[in-house]
Amino acid sequence: MSRKEKIQRAATRTAAQARETASRERKRSGRSTQASGSNPHRHCSVCWAPIPLEAEPPICDKEDCESTHKKREGSRKRLTIMLYLFPAIAILLALLSGF
Ligand SMILES: [Zn+2]
Repeated sequence: MSRKEKIQRAATRTAAQARETASRERKRSGRSTQASGSNPHRHCSVCWAPIPLEAEPPICDKEDCESTHKKREGSRKRLTIMLYLFPAIAILLALLSGF
């Protein structure tokens, strides 16, 4: 068989495979959304226990979940501050050295 034929055959085979995989993926994701879409709720960000949708902060009423959440919030805030602070210092130093 010619080189062109070979390439053509390979191309059709991969296309068929891709189509098959895509249809399988669709079927699987459809099933999972149906299963999880029973009733809307959130999960505790610490222990993943189901909590009411309007719970704020998104944690259950366990004491260790609350303290873990507070600790996480604190470190998250520090990280955000540093994320802004470091570029600001870098820009400042660049400006200072430029003048
Ligand atoms: Zn929890």
